[in-house]
Amino acid sequence: MSTNASLFDRAQRVIPGGVNSPVRAFRAVGGTPRFIARAEGAYLFDAEGRRYIDYIGSWGPMILGHGHPAVLDAVERAVRQGLSFGAPTEREIELAEEILKLVPSMEQVRLVSSGTEAAMSAIRLARGHTGRAKLVKFEGCYHGHADALLVKAGSGLATFGNPTSAGVPPEVVQHTLVLEYNNLEQLEEAFARHGQDIACVMIEPIAGNMNFVRAEPAFVRRLRELCTEHGALLVFDEVMTGFRVGLESAQGLYARLLPGFRPDLSVFGKVIGGGMPLAAFGGPREVMEKLAPVGPVYQAGTLSGNPVATACGLATLKEIQRPGFFESLGARTRSLVDGLLDVAREAGVPMSGDSEGGMFGFFFTGRLPRHYGEVMATDKERFSRFFHAMLDRGVYLAPALYEAGFVSAAHTEADIQATLEAAREALRAR
Ligand SMILES: *Cc1c(COP(=O)(O)O)cnc(C)c1O
Repeated sequence: MSTNASLFDRAQRVIPGGVNSPVRAFRAVGGTPRFIARAEGAYLFDAEGRRYIDYIGSWGPMILGHGHPAVLDAVERAVRQGLSFGAPTEREIELAEEILKLVPSMEQVRLVSSGTEAAMSAIRLARGHTGRAKLVKFEGCYHGHADALLVKAGSGLATFGNPTSAGVPPEVVQHTLVLEYNNLEQLEEAFARHGQDIACVMIEPIAGNMNFVRAEPAFVRRLRELCTEHGALLVFDEVMTGFRVGLESAQGLYARLLPGFRPDLSVFGKVIGGGMPLAAFGGPREVMEKLAPVGPVYQAGTLSGNPVATACGLATLKEIQRPGFFESLGARTRSLVDGLLDVAREAGVPMSGDSEGGMFGFFFTGRLPRHYGEVMATDKERFSRFFHAMLDRGVYLAPALYEAGFVSAAHTEADIQATLEAAREALRAR
């Protein structure tokens, strides 16, 4: 039988770092990644036959758990009808209609294959629509790995960003301004200086790529006002939060706090594909019709709206609309976070945590961080120890302190209790 270690050796010979996406390599926490052989419900099984309670859920998509029968049926039926046609299908219309029904801020939507592609295309559309070049993003938010988004803040607001990846020429990010999340003063200053040149502001409304940090309602309100005043588009990147924090997505939560609120463009991924490669971006017809073939903004994809992926996404969206789905998912997720905080308190370990729907985060610090700097200042050493102690006890958390966690509908109360018992031991063990 192959071991995780032998597979990791073998993988590293043929795949850079042994992985096809960096965080899977466990660099942030050390150790050997688990090679997954199969998954079922709330569990992953590795190459050595060990079972783990899965709190990654493929980084968000698996909201129903693994191998949900309705999803498997839909995918199996679709596979038999054909893997890809490169021509339009009725199923794409159905999925578009389903998404638009649930997201009132959008009148039209375009389907693509990854969140990276969707975010990149939304930015091109915003630039094409406004005829402007500049874009604003926030430190710690991830919108995929398009060149213009791999940026860290320059020195001061007068200067634009610096690339965070080799291979991205500084000229490519010269139009990207990076601000601190939840920092109203920086936001005001950025618009005062550059308002008439800003094509769009892109934000994760609940940031899941710096663990779990909510945009404060006052921040979102002012952001909306400034975008409207200056004619910039507000782009909500809901690749992670979409149909994950609630059926109404994060924008629905903010609309409840800020009546009438809506973003101009929205980006979805993860849950809408139910585990298959599928993402989307959408907005008002007036903006969306700037896209080719009707408009001048080019965007295309060989596998866009793939018939198997759309079947998987549709089946997933149907299931999450069952009455009470998010109430029970939200309650279960909250019981996990509340339980972790109790266990930490008993152990005398400072911890804070938060959750919404099936997404959660916890931090080894007494107060919830408000931006990336505060997230990265939390206890990394303790996180790594906790991560490995949990993994040893059959609980698979995200292998980095800046990643959110996910609970699925397949997680039972017994899974939560087993997780909390593991946490009790892990925090006691030191
Ligand atoms: C995962 C993610 C992306 C990128 O999606 P991929 O499908 O990995 O390309 C973009 N934005 C957010 C908020 C994400 O969480």
